[in-house]
Amino acid sequence: MSVPYADLHLQYQTIKDEVDAAIAAVIRDSAFIRGPYVDAFEDAFAAAMEAKHCVSCANGTDALFIAMAALGVKEGDEVITTAHSWISTSAMITHAGGTVVFCDTDASTFTIDPLAIESAITPRTVGIIPVHLYGQSADMDAIMAIARKHQLWVIEDCAQSHMARYKDRQVGTFGNAATYSFYPGKNLGAMGDAGAVVTSDDGLAARMAMLGRHGGLTKHQHKIEGINSRLDGLQAAILSAKLRHLPQWTRARQSAAAIYDAGLNQIKDLEIPYVASNRTHVYHLYTIQHPHRDDLANHLRTNGVQTAINYPVALPFLEAYSRFDHRPEQFPNSHRQQGRILSLPMFAEITADQQNTVIELIHAFA
Ligand SMILES: *Cc1c(COP(=O)(O)O)cnc(C)c1O
Repeated sequence: MSVPYADLHLQYQTIKDEVDAAIAAVIRDSAFIRGPYVDAFEDAFAAAMEAKHCVSCANGTDALFIAMAALGVKEGDEVITTAHSWISTSAMITHAGGTVVFCDTDASTFTIDPLAIESAITPRTVGIIPVHLYGQSADMDAIMAIARKHQLWVIEDCAQSHMARYKDRQVGTFGNAATYSFYPGKNLGAMGDAGAVVTSDDGLAARMAMLGRHGGLTKHQHKIEGINSRLDGLQAAILSAKLRHLPQWTRARQSAAAIYDAGLNQIKDLEIPYVASNRTHVYHLYTIQHPHRDDLANHLRTNGVQTAINYPVALPFLEAYSRFDHRPEQFPNSHRQQGRILSLPMFAEITADQQNTVIELIHAFA
């Protein structure tokens, strides 16, 4: 049996009628840009994320840029973020005019280490961007305490963590704003590019909406210089249809993770994902660690199982950041993990048979 890493077409088949009807309605109404489908999605998504406002935009990368631009990042400002993420998180700090300061992750959750944040703060620090990587919340109590003490803003990068929780609250409700990606493979995915920022700050929401729409919300009244970053009507209608299924898809991912956990937790040298107490994990990715990661990945691939490495090089060591001359000793956890991580097939519709194939192959390898 071959097992794909993800199966977007299978998900479409389970909700084909709803998605097809949504697309047909947008075409019938020619509501391609802004309009009722975008408004409806923004309202529904804000409510689902337990936030007051949702400002939709073209993708999760723009969401980060728009949030930072609206918070007033300027030349010389330092923004702290994690060494272990997708490059959007750090690249947008630079594009917003700031300076990237990386912090190592903690040893077990793949999320930013609050102790490292504390020691990275300087008089120029203005904000922190934690990433709830792979679907597990970062340590938000510790991060918010540091932010309050030093009067820093916090943007939560929730691109991989739709509906994950920290204690009794949903991620994305702790910081000043939270950014989401609806890239097709994300837990809530469009059929193309899409993104959003949510916030409960009225002023920030208004500035972000203006920034993403040429600097004004009324035609020809440009109050500031903005960019063009729009969620289109088709994606909005598709996302509204899919949002209704997100709670159930999240539970399905969690059940699939429990099957992997039970099947893999006794294997020597293999580490299954660790979930810290008081946090839920929504398993955008199910990422194990193994000292012979490349051999294991080859063994799985030759037997028909697709895997991925998210990400093969931690951010500080990418060519894009060679100007900083980062050394492995500065980021020991991320540096160690970049050679050990392997993401297994994970999607809401994965079957127990598919998972057992993966589990048996890993046992055979061990
Ligand atoms: C996917 C992702 C983004 C970027 O989202 P796009 O919609 O692809 O621009 C940002 N941060 C993280 C952590 C991501 O996983």
